[in-house]
Amino acid sequence: MLEIERIPALSDNYIWLVHEPAANVTAVVDPAEAEPVRAVLRTKGWRLTHILNTHHHADHVGGNAALKSETGATIVGPRADRARIPGIDVEVGDGDSYVFGAATATVFDVPGHTRGHIAYWFAADDALFCGDTLFAMGCGRLFEGTPAQMWHSLSKLRALPPATRVYCAHEYTLANGRFALSVEPDNAVLAERMRRIEAMRARGEATVPSTLGVEIATNPFLRPDSAALRSTLGLADADDVTVFAETRRRKDGFRG
Ligand code: ZN
Ligand code: FE
Repeated sequence: MLEIERIPALSDNYIWLVHEPAANVTAVVDPAEAEPVRAVLRTKGWRLTHILNTHHHADHVGGNAALKSETGATIVGPRADRARIPGIDVEVGDGDSYVFGAATATVFDVPGHTRGHIAYWFAADDALFCGDTLFAMGCGRLFEGTPAQMWHSLSKLRALPPATRVYCAHEYTLANGRFALSVEPDNAVLAERMRRIEAMRARGEATVPSTLGVEIATNPFLRPDSAALRSTLGLADADDVTVFAETRRRKDGFRG
């Protein structure tokens, strides 16, 4: 069983520390910066052995160089983006199995936010590390990909078991939820979730990870088939990519 620690970093990033006790290996997923990672490693008494990157943005690889030079950790990242991952040692891509101690991650190519974005799914632990592709009630902006690419990427993640915990890389949940309610105002599961999220944020608590089942019920970017969403957008008979694209376009301009 993996032991997973959440490390807040920068203004709204989450770095994830993943410890596999049988082989005594420890990975950091998307180290935005090194210092908060060092602090948790010290507290837990863990030695860093791996760095798993989902994509090349600075708030995901900023700690790569320092942590690698201090620990000799192996850096794993997207083959499709190897030139932009500082210090990359092992390149992985869609369908690869990456063995991490006694655990194994399945890798998915999930382009859209960036062209080389990947996600790591530890099936036996119901854990998905999806970077900036899928957020709680949201998804990443399309900096380098098309809506069709991003929808295809999200469809791969949506097909995983509903119990899968979604370890995304930012605390954007409250703002995402406000947008979600604006496009699905009558979604009772969403309204109830937002009440809980508002209370958690008021207490300063993290809202991540959620589960995929909860996301499928409340995240408009996983719900292009929702009749209510389609009705809000005036796209009753459109295909899923068109509905997804319009949802993303509206979110980009949303000031909640
Ligand atoms: Zn990013
Ligand atoms: Fe990010």
